[in-house]
Amino acid sequence: MLADNVEKILISEEEIVERCKELGKEISTDYEGKDPIIIGLLKGSVPFMAELIKYITIDCEMEFMAVSSYSGTESMGDVRILKDLDRSIKGENVLVVEDIVDTGKTLEKVKELLYSKGADSVKVVSLLDKPDRRIVDIEAEYVGFTIPNEFVIGFGLDFDQKYRNLPYVGVLKEECYK
Ligand code: 5GP
Repeated sequence: MLADNVEKILISEEEIVERCKELGKEISTDYEGKDPIIIGLLKGSVPFMAELIKYITIDCEMEFMAVSSYSGTESMGDVRILKDLDRSIKGENVLVVEDIVDTGKTLEKVKELLYSKGADSVKVVSLLDKPDRRIVDIEAEYVGFTIPNEFVIGFGLDFDQKYRNLPYVGVLKEECYK
């Protein structure tokens, strides 16, 4: 079973749902009257975005973008756009949904790109934040949980495309990636 490969659960499903309710409320207040375009970064943000939007109580639209990130547990160092947006975001208030901010390189590039497309504002909500690993000076405006420098999987986060479907955030047993 998938769960047999999990060393420990860092953040439970209940904790994630509770935090999504809080974040949804905060975002709804902050974006009142602004009708944000909520852009999920595929694929890691999907479970988080699905949970979070249930608690956003204002008008908003959903879009998706795909950028390259990690292969295995190693950073590729460069960020490429794999799937671009389907619509114009000129003059729009954009809220990017991310699974985790690690080095910060992905967010830096994505924010740059979205501003170059004419967005009025670009803010970020990330399920997880790993500040110890930051290389680029960038922070998400909304963070679900700050975690230590450990490679995590579950609730959208993968190891070689697997484990995204775990309903919690956990740490893999060492033998699974060694
Ligand atoms: P950054 O550009 O901030 O270094 O990396 C962001 C991306 O790297 C995330 O969207 C995620 O796909 C991947 N990543 C960073 N840390 C982890 C981690 O602990 N576990 C997993 N599964 N992916 C991670």
